Amino acid sequence: MTVDRILPTGEAHDLLDLATDLADRELAPKVTDFESRGVFPREVIRTIGRAGLLGLPYPEEDGGAAQPYEVYLQVLEILASRWLAVAEAVSVHTLACFPVAAYGSDQLRKMLPDMLGGELLGAYCLSEPQGGSDAAALTTKAVRDGDHYTVTGTKAWITHAGNADFYNVFARTGGPGAAGISCLLADAATPGIVPQAAERTMGLRSSPVAQIAFDGARVPAERLVGEEGVGFRIAMQALDSGRLGIAACAVGLAQAALDYASAYARDREQFGHPIIDFQGLGFMLADMATLVSAARALTLAAARLRDAGRPYAIEAAKAKLFATDAAMKVTTDAVQVLGGYGYVADHPVERYMREAKVLQIVEGTNQIQRLVISRSLAKGR
Ligand SMILES: Cc1cc2nc3c(=O)[nH]c(=O)nc-3n(C[C@H](O)[C@H](O)[C@H](O)COP(=O)(O)OP(=O)(O)OC[C@H]3O[C@@H](n4cnc5c(N)ncnc54)[C@H](O)[C@@H]3O)c2cc1C
Repeated sequence: MTVDRILPTGEAHDLLDLATDLADRELAPKVTDFESRGVFPREVIRTIGRAGLLGLPYPEEDGGAAQPYEVYLQVLEILASRWLAVAEAVSVHTLACFPVAAYGSDQLRKMLPDMLGGELLGAYCLSEPQGGSDAAALTTKAVRDGDHYTVTGTKAWITHAGNADFYNVFARTGGPGAAGISCLLADAATPGIVPQAAERTMGLRSSPVAQIAFDGARVPAERLVGEEGVGFRIAMQALDSGRLGIAACAVGLAQAALDYASAYARDREQFGHPIIDFQGLGFMLADMATLVSAARALTLAAARLRDAGRPYAIEAAKAKLFATDAAMKVTTDAVQVLGGYGYVADHPVERYMREAKVLQIVEGTNQIQRLVISRSLAKGR
């Protein structure tokens, strides 16, 4: 279904047309094969970068496209509607470019054109095996040793592990708690950085996720992003924006499920009628369509606050919470609309349902989003 969009500029229309064309040509024909083989489509990400769609929200002087977040998120939504793992890769890479773009030294910022052009792929290493939600309790250590930091510890669940060219590593350089955390930008080829075997995930199988062991890895001191002790602030600011990316991915996935289920219900007949004519099913589709529209509206409203330079973290948490819960419900109902055919891999809706689940977990589980929102209410904000 064509979504009726109000976009801020003609350039934004052109970008969405470009994204739709690229998604139809490069993503839709490949997704089933790559997902079934569990292979990361590195070349597809490079193609997206060369098309100018990887650095959309970053300034032109850094190699980005200086687009409002509102526009970037709608591009992401289109990519997600064809291949969630690719859209998630774009979202995670955009998140991984944030520390250098917002806090990096002039020296580090020289890497941005290659990062935003897709030649260098990034990863964001915050979670650890003993905890993801309580990120401020992380235990990976970075000890200053002359002109290097020696990094020791284990990161968990790292998207692009083993495939990325650079890792944002959040590590403890000081005492306990958030104030003791710093951010280092490590080259993936650094001796002592050892990606482990990929996790065997429920969905998003073409997106590599693994632990990374840091075994005395020596990272040059000039790779410190910002100052010592500001790492947690960098990590949380990156996540505020990243959560909007996950919300947009959820909207795209839910839209794909809705479109597929509606088309199926118009075509499939039982008792001599298209099944969409049975009110029980038609109303289910109506609820799915309403959830998709509401999720999109909430996500773009939060993005517009960000674009206006206003506080948006709480609205981003609400958008991530609502859009990913909506995607879970819509994809589950899409399976129901197809009946038995929804449960087999001949149709994409079973994949959509498996993929939706992870969106409720990454970049802060939906319980953590509720925590963020309820804490702001407790403060009377
Ligand atoms: C496919 C995938 C990709 C990922 N990619 C990355 C990545 O690139 N980089 C990265 O750093 N991390 C990544 N993650 C990690 C992800 O962010 C964490 O899994 C998530 O933050 C939850 O952490 P955890 O798994 O340790 O669960 P836990 O923190 O152990 O939580 C377990 C359960 O307890 C709940 N819970 C915890 N605390 C509270 C509380 N205070 N109140 C209520 N409920 C609570 C949680 O919501 C959850 O349901 C990825 C995860 C997956 C599955």
